[in-house]
Amino acid sequence: MVQVTELGYVILGVSDLARWKTFASEILGLEVMPGDRPDRCFLRMDYWHHRVILQQSPADDLLLHGLRVAGSDEFHELAARLKAAGVPVQIGSLEQAMERHVLEVMMLKDVNGYEMEIFHGPHILADIPFHPGRRMHGRFQTGDGGLGHMMMTNSLPLPEIYAFYRLLGMRGGIEYRVVVPHLPHPAELMFLHCNTRDHSLAFGTPGKKRINHLMFQVEHMDDVGLAYERVKQAGYKVGIEPGRHANDQMYSFYCMNPSGWLSEIGWGARNSVHQTEYYERDTFGHENVEGVVGEGMEPLG
Ligand code: FE
Repeated sequence: MVQVTELGYVILGVSDLARWKTFASEILGLEVMPGDRPDRCFLRMDYWHHRVILQQSPADDLLLHGLRVAGSDEFHELAARLKAAGVPVQIGSLEQAMERHVLEVMMLKDVNGYEMEIFHGPHILADIPFHPGRRMHGRFQTGDGGLGHMMMTNSLPLPEIYAFYRLLGMRGGIEYRVVVPHLPHPAELMFLHCNTRDHSLAFGTPGKKRINHLMFQVEHMDDVGLAYERVKQAGYKVGIEPGRHANDQMYSFYCMNPSGWLSEIGWGARNSVHQTEYYERDTFGHENVEGVVGEGMEPLG
């Protein structure tokens, strides 16, 4: 069965582009490249032309995410499958694909009604190695695991979201089932994978924004510590203190980015195990910092 292969890129709508550029380079260590227009810029973390577009926008939210397929055959087979399932899909023009720096792109809405794209053939700048925005001990871990993972908010029941992403060939299930004292049912979080990374997309937290958090993984544990110190020194708020997730075994922390949602920096995750299992809490740490992360926004995983 044809399937998507990675979370390839995201477009973030940011109200303060200048502040976000500084956050991306000085805090996260990403490379900021000039945009093709004054109201946006590209962020790099490996040889790809970009992994993130920062787009000037009052949204301060995820504008869309791009999932990759292997090639042209898979691209058109997946488009046909989506259409047969009643999902409207628009195949992008050559100009639209070139603007995204991919060979072909299709536009659609996910089951939550959020804009998304499916593409193949990212533009790789083989002659321009990634140059971090600040000192780093190592590099970002991307490769066949894609750019990282993202937790999106949703109002739909998890099985409906699962059915949509199964159409795209993603797999996974509930990985956290947390008993909440005043609620009749436990809170459940769902994690979906499409490659070696434990999860590329996660769902189950409520919220006013489309995105709960975006995680970038680094090769060296010291880069988690360095980012943590940079966050504190620059006056950004830590939302979740360092700790280790039970599901992907990622050692990480979360800070509040200039758009008011969470950036996670992680290290040491295991690969996806391809069989379901669940947890009621993390391995250690990941304390929620009082007053930073909103009600019900605390992510696990
Ligand atoms: Fe995460």
